[in-house]
Order: sequence, then C-alpha cells, then structure tokens
Amino acid sequence: VSSASEKFDFFYLVQQWPGSFCDTRQGCCFPDDTKPAAAFGIHGLWPNYAKCRGRQGLVRAMLGDDAFLSTVGRRGKCWPEYCDDGNELSPWEIRDLVASLDRSWPTLSCKNRRSFQFWSYEWKKHGTCSNLEPHDYFARALALKAKHDLAEILADAGIVPSDTETYPVSSVRDAIAQGTGFVANLECNRDADGEAQLFQVYQCVDRDAKDLIDCPLAMPTKCTDRVKLPVF
Ligand code: 5GP
Ligand code: 5GP
Repeated sequence: VSSASEKFDFFYLVQQWPGSFCDTRQGCCFPDDTKPAAAFGIHGLWPNYAKCRGRQGLVRAMLGDDAFLSTVGRRGKCWPEYCDDGNELSPWEIRDLVASLDRSWPTLSCKNRRSFQFWSYEWKKHGTCSNLEPHDYFARALALKAKHDLAEILADAGIVPSDTETYPVSSVRDAIAQGTGFVANLECNRDADGEAQLFQVYQCVDRDAKDLIDCPLAMPTKCTDRVKLPVF
C-alpha cells in the first residue's frame, strides 16, 4: 500500500470491448489461447483528479513550452500514478479472485499473454495510488463490473455487435446512462480500415470504489457521430 494517503477525487472503471482491441492493425492474442467471452473486459480501475493540477504545468502550458507539454499534457497532471514502485502484486494475495479475474479481466495483448502480468502492471501504475489493499482493489473492480453487463445493456437498446452496422454515439451514451443509472465517458479507436468504433467505456466511481457516480468531467473523444461495435 502506498505510504501516503493519495488525494484523488474519483476512479475510472475502464472496460474494453475485445472486438475493438482485436480488429486494429496491432491485432490481439488470448491468454492460454482461450478466447474470452464476447463481453466487455476490465482494463483498469484508475484514480483520477476532477481538476488537473500543477501550477507550473499550467503556466508553462500557457507559455507554450512544447517539450514540457508533451510530457504532462496541456492541462497539467490529471491523475496520480506509480505511487509505490516497490509494491509488487503477489499472486498469493489475490488467489481467491483469480478465476473471476481470468473471466472478467483477461489480457488481449500479444506481448505477454499472461493476465497476471496485466493485473500486476495495473496494480503498480494505478492500484498503488488507490489507498486500497490489493485484495480490495481487485475485489471492488470485479464487484463494480458485475453490477452491470454493458454488452447486455447495449443489446437491450438494439446496439448489437456487427461488422457492417454503425450506431449513433449518442444512443450508446444514452443506453449506458439508462441501463446503469450514471453517465459514463466513451473512448473510440479505429479499426484496420480507419473506421471509428467503441473501444472503452469509462464509468466513474466514488473514492471508496464502491458506487458508480456521474462522470464529473468529459474526456476528449475520438468518437465520430456514428460508431461501430465490431463482432468478437
Ligand atoms: P492512452 O494514451 O492510451 O489514452 O492512455 C495510456 C495510459 O495512460 C492508460 O493505459 C492509463 O494507464 C493512463 N491514462 C490515460 N487516460 C487516463 C485517465 O484519464 N486517468 C488515469 N488515471 N489514467 C489514464
Ligand atoms: P495502460 O494503458 O493502463 O498504461 O496500460 C496498458 C498496458 O497494459 C500496455 O502496456 C499494454 O501492453 C498492456 N496490456 C496487456 N493486456 C492488455 C489489454 O488487454 N488491453 C490493454 N489496453 N492493454 C493491455
């Protein structure tokens, strides 16, 4: 656990649509060569500031220091990360969650193909800033995800995976707000043909990682007016 108590405002629970990870130019791989279910999978649970901070960052951004901008971004520091580098995730601490994590938080990357590597990376980068013990961090992410099945919510609104159909991004946003009760942020990426598709859903969560909240800030978006939800 990080030594100091981190002051952040909310979490993003980020879930990825596997069809949109896999149909890009980079492609994807499956852990143990087992294809995960056609469901959203967890990418991470990320502590976040509601307002980006760093006076120095803002002043230098206003002066247009491009070298500086490329490292912190125009708006300063927007979230804490790597709060305790020596704090490695131990498999033992989350042993009772592994079956559930395998189902709900599988890696799709071809670099490693071991989901544990993905979980321990996310723990080090984001989890060490969460003020939670590893077991609570992963258990709460799983519990939050289990509350709502995003693919089912979209299907109920007529938004079903298809390699030809496109859907208004506003209908995706509305379906998630109705189905979960809270407004989420959406991230799109591009398939190998350059078409915009729904890639990740960012649900906002209170500081205890227990309840969903309306997202306090919008994100810059690469979504176009209509987006695909590719088959997985
Ligand atoms: P990308 O540049 O692909 O959007 O994000 C790269 C990485 O930066 C993400 O995997 C995540 O670790 C971190 N990141 C991006 N956006 C956010 C954000 O809004 N909040 C937090 N906490 N981390 C983010
Ligand atoms: P972040 O975007 O949180 O910094 O981290 C993403 C990192 O985790 C990348 O380095 C990526 O290679 C690795 N990774 C492993 N599995 C996955 C996966 O299924 N999805 C994503 N987005 N990244 C993954």
